[in-house]
Amino acid sequence: MEQDQNRRRFLQTSAVSVIGASSAIAFSKHVSTHEELETLKPLKNDGDMVCIASGNGLQAVEEAYANMKEGADTAVAIVKGVGIVEADPNDMSVGYGGLPNEEGVVQLDASVMHGPTHKAGSVGAIENILHPAQVALKVLQTTDHVMIVGEGAYEFARAHGFEKKDLLTEKARQAWLRWKQTRSTRDDWLDPDQMDWTQDGERISHVERIQDSIPFTYGTIHCSAVNQLGEVSGCTTTSGLSYKIPGRVGDSPIIGAGMYVDNDIGAAGATGRGEAVIQACGAYAVTEAMARGMEPTQACLNALKKIVKNSTKQRRLIREDGRPGFNVIMYALRKDGIHGAAAMFPRATYAIADSKGSRLLKCASLFD
Ligand code: ASP
Repeated sequence: MEQDQNRRRFLQTSAVSVIGASSAIAFSKHVSTHEELETLKPLKNDGDMVCIASGNGLQAVEEAYANMKEGADTAVAIVKGVGIVEADPNDMSVGYGGLPNEEGVVQLDASVMHGPTHKAGSVGAIENILHPAQVALKVLQTTDHVMIVGEGAYEFARAHGFEKKDLLTEKARQAWLRWKQTRSTRDDWLDPDQMDWTQDGERISHVERIQDSIPFTYGTIHCSAVNQLGEVSGCTTTSGLSYKIPGRVGDSPIIGAGMYVDNDIGAAGATGRGEAVIQACGAYAVTEAMARGMEPTQACLNALKKIVKNSTKQRRLIREDGRPGFNVIMYALRKDGIHGAAAMFPRATYAIADSKGSRLLKCASLFD
């Protein structure tokens, strides 16, 4: 009911939303300003504070919400929230305890975006640092860059006083060892008969190999929030795809893929097969769909449809029943506090904290 009223308010303004600030900018007389842009006005937030996260983020949204209540900036609050999951050795998809790459080394990816300043910071394939989202926030706050990767990201973190920490837990090492001992073809190096290309770069058009399942573990935390001032921020942090090729960077630290914020519209994020999300500019696609007036849940489903259409062109990613052999979950939080999430398959949940408390909600699903 409350969501319905908010939705109506949103739809009244959405047709004229998006980039209100641009009206103050004088473009060159040679630039024809699109009519739509001239009439756009920012969305309103009526004072609702809302924080959402992936299903593993119940404690994270509680922490972020509590911090926002005490006046913390939205970006700072969500980075604190996801820090709980980054430090949790039992979550084998994020931070400490995360599953390592194929060499047994834990490499983490994270990104943060701050709506009010439209600044972003991210780190890719960073090693030995417990809180990559905090490092991403430092990139955002203290540099003119957006993304720092690998050794450079580690050195940057050390310069800011982050401690060196071995992130490989005994449980994760054992899991990696089992994978190493049994992997046969279960790695990310495609067999020649899995490729759509010859070694010489010639396109092969007859690849028909269908894969029954993708043998890797995905997992990540995405978290986004809006405060009473309508300030929106988003954050995604992960140890990425398990047993990945060293140096592989997923969607989580890529602005517009695993996370995106437009302060006039809202925030979006993704978990699941990062390669598919990158190839669809997933989070950007969700915010743009919301800018066109689509509801958050529909915007997420819309992005998933695109992902299915694009990535199932690779036959090895399709199951026998024609559905994708991987999952992706998209999350969306609109500036007016309306939120939604959608997964490829049923039973996924997402976490929320708002004035009614914190709880897990069901994600919509693209397939039954
Ligand atoms: N999206 C992450 C990645 O591909 C993993 C995940 O969310 O499960 O690195």
